[in-house]
Amino acid sequence: MTVLVTGGAGYIGSHTVLAMAEAGESVVVVDNLSTGFSAFVPEGVPLFIGDAGDENLVEGVISAHDVKSIVHFAGSVVVPDSMRDPLAYYRNNTMTTRSLLNAAVKCGVSRFIFSSTAAVYGNPDQVPVPESAPTRPLSPYGFSKLMSEIMLHDVATAHGMNYVALRYFNVAGADPKARIGLATVGATHLLKIAVEAATGQRAKVDVFGTDYPTPDGSCIRDFIHVSDLAQAHRAALSYLRDGGQSATLNCGYGRGYSVLETIEAVRRVSGRNFAVQYAPRRPGDIMTMIADTTRIKSMLDWTPQYDNLETIAKHALAWEEKLFHERHGDLQQAASA
Ligand code: UDP
Repeated sequence: MTVLVTGGAGYIGSHTVLAMAEAGESVVVVDNLSTGFSAFVPEGVPLFIGDAGDENLVEGVISAHDVKSIVHFAGSVVVPDSMRDPLAYYRNNTMTTRSLLNAAVKCGVSRFIFSSTAAVYGNPDQVPVPESAPTRPLSPYGFSKLMSEIMLHDVATAHGMNYVALRYFNVAGADPKARIGLATVGATHLLKIAVEAATGQRAKVDVFGTDYPTPDGSCIRDFIHVSDLAQAHRAALSYLRDGGQSATLNCGYGRGYSVLETIEAVRRVSGRNFAVQYAPRRPGDIMTMIADTTRIKSMLDWTPQYDNLETIAKHALAWEEKLFHERHGDLQQAASA
């Protein structure tokens, strides 16, 4: 009873593979290493280098390893890139999911966990946002994920598959032991930018908008620690194994921190008073995104361990220091090997 994890060498995928391997689960990874790192896949976990949409490869892996469940992370995640090159996103996300589902159906895989995103909501009418909120993505990225959700729903209904689609809010932090973390070159996420500033890799952090009608004028986000998110995938798998029905669940903590509070947390835990510059609003930004977590809390046996902004900042910083000072060269080598 092996679990196939696509994109298991990437940021969230590798934390999930690590959590599963540590729990004694039999796991195999398919990853094309376009943004992932082979060094992130734990020893003893087979890694097949290739596309999650390569049906021959995936069917071979499913048969050879008796795969009964798929956790599907592989995909592209940069919103502005999706605006510039929408077809790349519909290929890498929507079409890849279609091919993967086709292989899963052919091989009788009965459980599927899908990486979705709060970007499917677009600009929400209410926060915290419940799963029943209208889905109005603002980018091809959001649409590519929403289209995948719709396919998954239809395939599950037609073919007796059960699935959990997890809609991630703002994923941040790193493995508490700093074994793995976010290593994508050019990542634009706030916590990543702030820890780069704290480690002297950039001169300042821009705050995109300080005139929002929020308590301190900056945007508010529901940051979730990547290791808690990894455990949410394990909980989703247990739920399906116990006979749970298909579900779409928000994955956040249900509380928000402002951009300024987040930057302050990084300054505090690092002890480095890097420069912060107030800048104009970033086009397309949503003011406040917070998950309504009622459904995930009632359906999954999932208790977050790191629901604390300073803890998230501390782990992100420890990883960034390690990445910057020790491992960057190795990772690049591993990525191009
Ligand atoms: N942000 C910022 N400066 C940065 C990066 C991000 O002020 O250098 C803000 C951004 O405008 C948004 C919030 O931080 O309000 C979260 O942005 P991020 O790109 O991390 O995630 P998003 O919520 O856009 O997916």
